[in-house]
Amino acid sequence: MEFRLIDRIRERTAQNREDVKLGIGDDAAVVAPPAGQDVAIAIDTMVEGVHFPHGTAASDIGWKSLAVNLSDLAAMGASPAWALLALTLPPQPAEQLREFIDGYAEGFAQLAQPHRLALIGGDTTRGGLSISVAVHGFVPPGKALTRNGARAGDVVLVTGTLGDAAAGLQMLQRGARVDEGDGRAAYLIERLHRPTPRLAAGLALRERASACIDVSDGLLADLGHICDESGLGAEIEAELLPRSPMLMASFDEQTVRDFALAGGDDYELCFTVPPAMVADVQTDLARMGCGATRIGRMVEGGGVRVRDASGQWLEAAHRGWDHFA
Ligand code: ADP
Ligand code: MG
Repeated sequence: MEFRLIDRIRERTAQNREDVKLGIGDDAAVVAPPAGQDVAIAIDTMVEGVHFPHGTAASDIGWKSLAVNLSDLAAMGASPAWALLALTLPPQPAEQLREFIDGYAEGFAQLAQPHRLALIGGDTTRGGLSISVAVHGFVPPGKALTRNGARAGDVVLVTGTLGDAAAGLQMLQRGARVDEGDGRAAYLIERLHRPTPRLAAGLALRERASACIDVSDGLLADLGHICDESGLGAEIEAELLPRSPMLMASFDEQTVRDFALAGGDDYELCFTVPPAMVADVQTDLARMGCGATRIGRMVEGGGVRVRDASGQWLEAAHRGWDHFA
Protein backbone atom coordinates (compact mmCIF):
# COMPACT_ATOMS: atom_id res chain seq x y z
CA MET A 1 0.00 0.00 0.00
CA GLU A 2 0.90 3.71 -0.20
CA PHE A 3 3.39 3.22 -3.00
CA ARG A 4 4.23 6.89 -3.31
CA LEU A 5 4.97 7.11 0.40
CA ILE A 6 7.23 4.08 0.18
CA ASP A 7 8.97 5.64 -2.83
CA ARG A 8 9.65 8.76 -0.78
CA ILE A 9 11.22 6.63 1.95
CA ARG A 10 13.25 4.68 -0.59
CA GLU A 11 14.61 7.81 -2.27
CA ARG A 12 15.60 9.45 0.97
CA THR A 13 17.31 6.41 2.49
CA ALA A 14 19.05 5.11 -0.65
CA GLN A 15 22.29 3.32 0.19
CA ASN A 16 24.27 1.17 -2.21
CA ARG A 17 25.52 -2.06 -0.75
CA GLU A 18 26.82 -4.99 -2.76
CA ASP A 19 25.30 -7.43 -0.28
CA VAL A 20 21.76 -6.19 -1.00
CA LYS A 21 20.56 -8.22 -3.97
CA LEU A 22 17.03 -6.85 -3.79
CA GLY A 23 15.88 -3.96 -1.62
CA ILE A 24 12.58 -2.10 -1.21
CA GLY A 25 10.01 -2.89 -3.88
CA ASP A 26 9.53 -6.62 -4.11
CA ASP A 27 7.69 -9.05 -1.85
CA ALA A 28 10.80 -9.57 0.22
CA ALA A 29 14.34 -8.26 0.35
CA VAL A 30 17.20 -10.55 -0.65
CA VAL A 31 20.61 -10.16 0.96
CA ALA A 32 23.90 -12.01 0.88
CA PRO A 33 25.46 -12.29 4.35
CA PRO A 34 29.28 -12.26 4.24
CA ALA A 35 30.84 -15.70 4.41
CA GLY A 36 32.18 -16.62 7.81
CA GLN A 37 30.31 -13.95 9.79
CA ASP A 38 27.53 -14.33 12.31
CA VAL A 39 24.48 -12.09 11.87
CA ALA A 40 23.22 -10.15 14.92
CA ILE A 41 19.54 -9.14 14.72
CA ALA A 42 17.53 -6.79 16.91
CA ILE A 43 14.14 -5.05 16.79
CA ASP A 44 12.67 -2.21 18.83
CA THR A 45 9.25 -0.57 18.73
CA MET A 46 8.54 3.04 19.62
CA VAL A 47 4.96 4.10 20.39
CA GLU A 48 3.92 7.75 20.54
CA GLY A 49 3.16 8.84 24.11
CA VAL A 50 5.06 5.84 25.52
CA HIS A 51 8.56 5.94 24.01
CA PHE A 52 8.52 9.52 22.75
CA PRO A 53 6.33 12.48 23.71
CA HIS A 54 3.43 13.62 21.55
CA GLY A 55 4.62 16.38 19.25
CA THR A 56 8.15 15.00 18.78
CA ALA A 57 9.54 16.13 15.40
CA ALA A 58 9.29 13.47 12.68
CA SER A 59 13.02 13.77 11.95
CA ASP A 60 13.86 13.13 15.62
CA ILE A 61 11.60 10.06 15.59
CA GLY A 62 13.40 8.87 12.46
CA TRP A 63 16.81 9.27 14.08
CA LYS A 64 15.89 7.74 17.41
CA SER A 65 13.98 4.76 16.05
CA LEU A 66 17.16 3.71 14.26
CA ALA A 67 19.52 4.82 17.04
CA VAL A 68 17.97 2.58 19.69
CA ASN A 69 18.44 -0.41 17.40
CA LEU A 70 22.01 0.48 16.42
CA SER A 71 22.69 0.79 20.14
CA ASP A 72 21.66 -2.86 20.53
CA LEU A 73 24.10 -3.85 17.78
CA ALA A 74 26.81 -1.73 19.44
CA ALA A 75 26.23 -3.60 22.70
CA MET A 76 26.82 -6.88 20.82
CA GLY A 77 30.00 -5.63 19.14
CA ALA A 78 28.30 -5.97 15.75
CA SER A 79 28.63 -3.67 12.75
CA PRO A 80 25.32 -2.66 11.13
CA ALA A 81 24.30 -3.56 7.59
CA TRP A 82 20.54 -3.69 6.94
CA ALA A 83 17.26 -2.51 8.43
CA LEU A 84 13.52 -3.14 8.08
CA LEU A 85 10.94 -0.52 9.00
CA ALA A 86 7.32 -1.15 10.03
CA LEU A 87 5.40 2.13 10.19
CA THR A 88 1.92 2.47 11.66
CA LEU A 89 0.57 5.93 10.87
CA PRO A 90 -2.64 7.63 12.02
CA PRO A 91 -5.11 8.57 9.26
CA GLN A 92 -4.35 12.17 8.24
CA PRO A 93 -4.47 14.48 5.21
CA ALA A 94 -2.06 13.47 2.42
CA GLU A 95 0.02 16.64 2.77
CA GLN A 96 0.60 15.99 6.48
CA LEU A 97 1.43 12.36 5.80
CA ARG A 98 4.04 13.35 3.22
CA GLU A 99 5.54 15.86 5.62
CA PHE A 100 5.83 13.23 8.32
CA ILE A 101 7.37 10.67 5.96
CA ASP A 102 9.88 13.17 4.58
CA GLY A 103 10.90 14.28 8.07
CA TYR A 104 11.08 10.72 9.36
CA ALA A 105 13.20 9.56 6.41
CA GLU A 106 15.52 12.55 6.76
CA GLY A 107 16.27 11.84 10.43
CA PHE A 108 16.65 8.11 9.73
CA ALA A 109 19.03 8.78 6.83
CA GLN A 110 21.17 11.20 8.83
CA LEU A 111 22.11 8.34 11.11
CA ALA A 112 21.97 5.51 8.54
CA GLN A 113 24.26 7.08 5.95
CA PRO A 114 27.48 7.45 7.94
CA HIS A 115 27.12 3.79 8.95
CA ARG A 116 26.31 2.67 5.39
CA LEU A 117 23.15 1.04 6.69
CA ALA A 118 20.64 0.11 3.97
CA LEU A 119 16.88 0.17 4.54
CA ILE A 120 15.84 -2.90 2.58
CA GLY A 121 12.11 -3.20 3.28
CA GLY A 122 9.25 -2.83 5.67
CA ASP A 123 5.54 -2.49 6.06
CA THR A 124 3.16 0.46 6.26
CA THR A 125 -0.21 0.34 7.99
CA ARG A 126 -2.80 2.62 9.62
CA GLY A 127 -3.33 3.00 13.35
CA GLY A 128 -1.86 4.85 16.31
CA LEU A 129 1.61 6.21 15.55
CA SER A 130 4.08 3.38 16.13
CA ILE A 131 7.44 2.59 14.57
CA SER A 132 9.29 -0.70 14.58
CA VAL A 133 12.81 -0.91 13.20
CA ALA A 134 14.69 -4.18 12.87
CA VAL A 135 18.43 -4.14 12.23
CA HIS A 136 20.94 -6.75 11.09
CA GLY A 137 24.66 -6.54 11.68
CA PHE A 138 27.75 -8.70 11.37
CA VAL A 139 30.04 -10.07 14.00
CA PRO A 140 32.84 -12.64 13.70
CA PRO A 141 31.77 -16.09 14.94
CA GLY A 142 31.90 -16.37 18.69
CA LYS A 143 32.92 -12.72 19.16
CA ALA A 144 29.55 -11.20 20.04
CA LEU A 145 29.57 -9.31 23.35
CA THR A 146 27.05 -10.82 25.74
CA ARG A 147 25.66 -10.08 29.18
CA ASN A 148 26.84 -13.26 30.83
CA GLY A 149 30.64 -13.19 30.80
CA ALA A 150 31.49 -10.89 33.70
CA ARG A 151 33.90 -12.21 36.38
CA ALA A 152 34.21 -11.18 40.03
CA GLY A 153 36.86 -8.46 40.20
CA ASP A 154 36.12 -7.09 36.73
CA VAL A 155 35.85 -3.32 36.53
CA VAL A 156 32.50 -1.78 35.49
CA LEU A 157 32.73 1.09 33.00
CA VAL A 158 30.27 3.22 31.08
CA THR A 159 30.71 5.32 27.91
CA GLY A 160 29.75 8.98 27.63
CA THR A 161 27.60 10.52 30.34
CA LEU A 162 24.46 9.29 32.09
CA GLY A 163 21.16 11.00 32.93
CA ASP A 164 21.04 13.62 30.17
CA ALA A 165 18.08 12.13 28.30
CA ALA A 166 15.96 11.70 31.42
CA ALA A 167 16.70 15.30 32.34
CA GLY A 168 15.76 16.40 28.81
CA LEU A 169 12.46 14.54 29.07
CA GLN A 170 11.66 16.16 32.39
CA MET A 171 12.45 19.57 30.90
CA LEU A 172 10.10 18.88 27.98
CA GLN A 173 7.37 17.73 30.35
CA ARG A 174 7.77 20.94 32.33
CA GLY A 175 7.34 22.93 29.14
CA ALA A 176 10.94 24.11 28.92
CA ARG A 177 11.86 25.99 25.80
CA VAL A 178 14.84 24.76 23.83
CA ASP A 179 16.57 28.17 24.04
CA GLU A 180 16.32 28.16 27.85
CA GLY A 181 19.30 28.10 30.23
CA ASP A 182 22.15 29.09 27.89
CA GLY A 183 21.61 26.09 25.65
CA ARG A 184 21.43 23.58 28.48
CA ALA A 185 17.84 22.62 27.70
CA ALA A 186 18.73 22.30 24.01
CA TYR A 187 21.64 20.00 24.85
CA LEU A 188 19.67 17.75 27.19
CA ILE A 189 16.64 17.53 24.87
CA GLU A 190 18.95 16.72 21.97
CA ARG A 191 20.42 13.90 24.07
CA LEU A 192 16.86 12.60 24.51
CA HIS A 193 15.83 12.83 20.86
CA ARG A 194 19.15 12.07 19.17
CA PRO A 195 21.13 9.51 21.14
CA THR A 196 24.47 8.49 19.61
CA PRO A 197 24.78 4.70 19.33
CA ARG A 198 28.30 3.74 20.46
CA LEU A 199 29.07 1.49 17.51
CA ALA A 200 32.82 2.15 17.29
CA ALA A 201 33.15 1.58 21.02
CA GLY A 202 31.27 -1.72 20.70
CA LEU A 203 33.72 -2.92 18.03
CA ALA A 204 36.69 -1.86 20.15
CA LEU A 205 35.32 -3.87 23.08
CA ARG A 206 35.26 -7.16 21.16
CA GLU A 207 37.67 -9.62 22.78
CA ARG A 208 38.19 -7.19 25.68
CA ALA A 209 34.89 -6.67 27.50
CA SER A 210 33.75 -9.72 29.45
CA ALA A 211 30.13 -8.46 29.36
CA CYS A 212 28.32 -5.55 27.71
CA ILE A 213 24.84 -4.01 27.57
CA ASP A 214 23.42 -0.74 26.30
CA VAL A 215 21.76 1.49 28.88
CA SER A 216 18.16 1.93 27.75
CA ASP A 217 16.17 1.38 30.96
CA GLY A 218 18.65 3.06 33.32
CA LEU A 219 22.04 2.00 34.67
CA LEU A 220 20.69 0.14 37.71
CA ALA A 221 18.28 -1.94 35.65
CA ASP A 222 20.67 -2.68 32.81
CA LEU A 223 23.74 -3.41 34.93
CA GLY A 224 21.32 -5.58 36.90
CA HIS A 225 20.88 -7.69 33.75
CA ILE A 226 24.65 -8.21 33.51
CA CYS A 227 24.63 -9.24 37.18
CA ASP A 228 21.75 -11.69 36.70
CA GLU A 229 23.17 -13.23 33.54
CA SER A 230 26.70 -13.46 34.97
CA GLY A 231 25.57 -14.77 38.37
CA LEU A 232 27.31 -11.89 40.19
CA GLY A 233 26.68 -8.60 41.98
CA ALA A 234 28.00 -5.11 41.24
CA GLU A 235 29.19 -2.30 43.53
CA ILE A 236 28.91 1.20 42.10
CA GLU A 237 30.38 4.43 43.48
CA ALA A 238 27.79 7.18 42.99
CA GLU A 239 30.38 9.96 42.85
CA LEU A 240 32.12 8.25 39.91
CA LEU A 241 29.04 8.32 37.64
CA PRO A 242 29.87 10.39 34.54
CA ARG A 243 27.55 13.39 34.34
CA SER A 244 27.60 16.21 31.80
CA PRO A 245 28.26 19.80 32.93
CA MET A 246 24.89 20.73 31.35
CA LEU A 247 23.09 18.19 33.52
CA MET A 248 24.90 19.22 36.70
CA ALA A 249 24.13 22.89 36.06
CA SER A 250 20.41 22.18 35.59
CA PHE A 251 19.34 20.06 38.58
CA ASP A 252 20.26 19.55 42.22
CA GLU A 253 22.80 16.91 43.15
CA GLN A 254 20.37 14.22 44.23
CA THR A 255 18.17 14.61 41.14
CA VAL A 256 21.26 14.40 38.95
CA ARG A 257 22.32 11.20 40.69
CA ASP A 258 18.85 9.70 40.31
CA PHE A 259 18.74 10.56 36.60
CA ALA A 260 22.18 9.00 36.12
CA LEU A 261 21.30 5.82 38.02
CA ALA A 262 17.76 5.21 36.89
CA GLY A 263 16.65 7.74 34.26
CA GLY A 264 17.18 5.61 31.18
CA ASP A 265 17.22 6.42 27.46
CA ASP A 266 20.97 7.02 27.70
CA TYR A 267 22.02 4.54 24.99
CA GLU A 268 25.53 4.45 26.41
CA LEU A 269 27.38 1.14 26.78
CA CYS A 270 27.89 -0.36 30.24
CA PHE A 271 30.54 -3.08 30.24
CA THR A 272 32.96 -5.05 32.36
CA VAL A 273 36.67 -5.65 31.75
CA PRO A 274 39.46 -7.35 33.69
CA PRO A 275 41.45 -4.75 35.69
CA ALA A 276 44.60 -5.22 33.59
CA MET A 277 42.74 -4.11 30.46
CA VAL A 278 41.07 -0.97 31.80
CA ALA A 279 43.74 1.55 30.81
CA ASP A 280 43.94 0.30 27.20
CA VAL A 281 40.18 0.34 26.80
CA GLN A 282 39.93 3.84 28.23
CA THR A 283 42.63 5.11 25.88
CA ASP A 284 40.89 3.64 22.83
CA LEU A 285 37.42 4.86 23.75
CA ALA A 286 38.76 8.34 24.54
CA ARG A 287 40.16 8.42 21.02
CA MET A 288 36.67 7.57 19.72
CA GLY A 289 35.24 10.62 21.44
CA CYS A 290 32.87 8.98 23.88
CA GLY A 291 35.40 7.98 26.53
CA ALA A 292 34.78 5.39 29.23
CA THR A 293 34.52 6.00 32.97
CA ARG A 294 35.11 3.35 35.62
CA ILE A 295 32.17 3.38 38.01
CA GLY A 296 32.60 0.25 40.11
CA ARG A 297 33.34 -3.46 40.08
CA MET A 298 31.78 -6.89 39.89
CA VAL A 299 31.60 -8.90 43.11
CA GLU A 300 30.36 -12.29 44.31
CA GLY A 301 26.67 -12.29 45.18
CA GLY A 302 23.82 -10.65 43.29
CA GLY A 303 22.21 -7.31 42.48
CA VAL A 304 23.56 -3.79 42.11
CA ARG A 305 24.55 -1.81 45.19
CA VAL A 306 25.39 1.89 45.13
CA ARG A 307 27.70 3.62 47.61
CA ASP A 308 27.81 7.40 48.15
CA ALA A 309 30.94 9.48 48.69
CA SER A 310 30.87 8.83 52.45
CA GLY A 311 30.77 5.07 51.92
CA GLN A 312 27.08 4.65 52.81
CA TRP A 313 25.08 2.12 50.80
CA LEU A 314 22.14 3.83 49.09
CA GLU A 315 20.17 0.89 47.75
CA ALA A 316 17.79 0.10 50.58
CA ALA A 317 17.39 3.60 51.98
CA HIS A 318 16.89 5.52 48.80
CA ARG A 319 13.34 5.72 47.47
CA GLY A 320 13.83 8.08 44.56
CA TRP A 321 14.37 5.40 41.94
CA ASP A 322 11.00 3.68 41.89
CA HIS A 323 9.14 6.32 39.98
CA PHE A 324 11.57 6.01 37.10
CA ALA A 325 10.65 2.36 36.63
P1 ADP B 1 3.47 -6.61 0.35
O1 ADP B 1 1.99 -6.45 0.32
O2 ADP B 1 4.02 -7.54 -0.67
O3 ADP B 1 4.00 -6.83 1.73
P2 ADP B 1 3.92 -3.80 0.58
O4 ADP B 1 3.03 -2.92 -0.21
O5 ADP B 1 3.67 -3.94 2.05
O6 ADP B 1 4.03 -5.19 -0.14
O7 ADP B 1 5.39 -3.28 0.40
C1 ADP B 1 5.92 -3.07 -0.90
C2 ADP B 1 7.41 -2.94 -0.78
O8 ADP B 1 7.73 -1.78 -0.02
C3 ADP B 1 8.08 -4.09 -0.08
O9 ADP B 1 9.35 -4.31 -0.67
C4 ADP B 1 8.26 -3.60 1.33
O10 ADP B 1 9.39 -4.20 1.94
C5 ADP B 1 8.46 -2.11 1.11
N1 ADP B 1 7.96 -1.30 2.23
C6 ADP B 1 6.70 -1.16 2.67
N2 ADP B 1 6.60 -0.29 3.68
C7 ADP B 1 7.86 0.12 3.92
C8 ADP B 1 8.44 1.02 4.86
N3 ADP B 1 7.71 1.65 5.78
N4 ADP B 1 9.78 1.20 4.81
C9 ADP B 1 10.54 0.54 3.90
N5 ADP B 1 10.06 -0.28 2.98
C10 ADP B 1 8.73 -0.51 2.98
MG1 MG C 1 3.65 -5.66 3.40
